[in-house]
Amino acid sequence: RAKNQGRRGLQYYTPAMSMETIRRLSLENSLRSALDRGELKLHYQPQVSLENGRVMGVEALLRWQHPHRGWISPAQFIPLAEENGLIVPIGEWVLNTACAQAKTWQVTGEPPLTIAVNLSARQFLQTKFIAQIDQILGQCGLAAKVLKLEITESLLMQDLKGAITTLHALKERGIQLAIDDFGTGYSSLNYLKRFPLDQLKIDRAFIRDITREPDDAAIAQAIIALAHSLKLEVMAEGVEREAQVAFLQAKRCHAIQGYYVSRPLPPEQLAPWVRENKRLIQASEIGSGHPP
Ligand code: C2E
Ligand code: MG
Ligand code: MG
Ligand code: MG
Repeated sequence: RAKNQGRRGLQYYTPAMSMETIRRLSLENSLRSALDRGELKLHYQPQVSLENGRVMGVEALLRWQHPHRGWISPAQFIPLAEENGLIVPIGEWVLNTACAQAKTWQVTGEPPLTIAVNLSARQFLQTKFIAQIDQILGQCGLAAKVLKLEITESLLMQDLKGAITTLHALKERGIQLAIDDFGTGYSSLNYLKRFPLDQLKIDRAFIRDITREPDDAAIAQAIIALAHSLKLEVMAEGVEREAQVAFLQAKRCHAIQGYYVSRPLPPEQLAPWVRENKRLIQASEIGSGHPP
């Protein structure tokens, strides 16, 4: 049967369409059971301060090990989960797992690490979102200031008034707030001052060619300057090369995350990695003027 058999006439499946539809439906069905079957995992990517070279925290990144298809990237299944609403239970699982992990690291005496968790719009806009956060933090026994929530500009723009209320409620609890992929959404600079934010994360797209493309360098530099004047912390995403680190240090970017530091690691590898890399960037490279 045709997909959209509307009044305007029949729409026939092409072989390509049906393949795509079948693939999508089967992915959707398996995503539905992925949570129950324990196929979802979190990996953790270190974040390093350029001011003192220390590991400050980690970002939790979702991984799906599909029984037949192997690892599926969140870039593929998160948009699907957002469309069909599965992102709500998945997002709750992510928050629970990440907070429990952060608590475990505290209990086992690892250096203090903030845990950054990505939120999707549907999750953030739920009326019970704040209650859910309170419940998870309470259950894990985790201090609110350890948790950092990453949200995107487009998420905020979906419901500005609601977003501002929710952000203030989170901030009151001491939760840290970051804008992810900054510069790629509908940046409304006017709203930046109305959001109680802690951090801007410069999107990887601007960092990639920062040492080669004057336009990217200019944008990154402008975002860093904006963060400084708004008294926000600024972190560069997707840092892969030493030359990028040098550029970012020279512009007084506060922190970096990317393959230059480490790929996202499974939880059992993260703590040993942090112990071995307590101070990753040499003090002499920093040039911030602060003693190490
Ligand atoms: P993001 O939050 O901007 O995460 C950064 C992405 O860049 C991650 O991709 C990370 O693995 C990748 N990355 C980090 N350093 C480098 C680097 O040096 N070079 C390159 N090329 N890539 C780097 P990943 O893990 O595939 O996640 C993609 C996106 O999926 C995330 O982008 C985030 O928007 C979303 N996502 C991941 N986990 C979750 C989650 O638990 N909930 C929600 N709602 N979204 C998530
Ligand atoms: Mg993120
Ligand atoms: Mg990002
Ligand atoms: Mg992204």
